[in-house]
Amino acid sequence: MAGILFIISAPSGSGKSTLVGELRKYVEGLEFSVSYTTRSPRGSEENGREYHFTTRENFERMIAEDLFLEWADVFGNYYGTARSALSQAAEHGRDLLLDIDVQGAMQVMKRMPKAVSIFIMPPGPRVLETRLRNRSVAEHMTDEAVIERRLRQAHSELEYVSRYEYAIVNDVLDTAAAELRAIVLAARGENDAATATLATCCQTASSPARLQKVLDQFSADASLR
Ligand code: ADP
Ligand code: 5GP
Repeated sequence: MAGILFIISAPSGSGKSTLVGELRKYVEGLEFSVSYTTRSPRGSEENGREYHFTTRENFERMIAEDLFLEWADVFGNYYGTARSALSQAAEHGRDLLLDIDVQGAMQVMKRMPKAVSIFIMPPGPRVLETRLRNRSVAEHMTDEAVIERRLRQAHSELEYVSRYEYAIVNDVLDTAAAELRAIVLAARGENDAATATLATCCQTASSPARLQKVLDQFSADASLR
């Protein structure tokens, strides 16, 4: 594809959807890939908007026909990015953003090494727990077992952070949103000096202590082992 491919991953509840929503408001020329999934729609989700909702049978047929750029089993459901997302973005002359889990991200990084990869982290396990709880209350789905499972899953997903080019710690929303915007603009070469500095600070290689602090908090939490 001609444009830039951005990959965003984050443990559930870290604020990825919120940040991507902010990016949509402030950055033009980005296309958002609509994934296929076998999970059921939640809340106000619509087929073709958040996801293409499909059956396991159809998903497996698409795998057999090699129609996916990547796919993964996440929380017991299939999720996948159709290859056609790349060609569509290229036709429209736009950059493409993939919101995919760590397994899918590893596949895309291997196939498309020029992709710009961004990992969004929660500031720590207790903040993540609060966010998961608040969201589940808002969605009327307060299942303790789901929250516990997502917290443990977050711990294991965080181990992938060093494989990504950039990492954002989503503590203060406005700061994290500005960092995400800076990364996109810097990758496009549309940045001023301040934006370039902000993007560089988010490189995983340039500030490992900032990320290690979050990882240490998860490792120290006995309930997540
Ligand atoms: P994800 O898409 O990563 O699963 P969401 O974007 O749904 O996460 O965010 C999870 C919850 O945390 C939501 O209720 C959202 O409003 C809240 N949230 C996201 N970012 C922040 C932030 N920086 N500060 C406080 N709350 C946040
Ligand atoms: P949710 O069901 O909460 O919308 O998403 C669950 C997880 O699946 C998130 O981590 C999300 O990034 C991931 N996901 C969504 N679409 C895809 C996809 O096409 N491929 C992969 N590998 N993961 C996806």
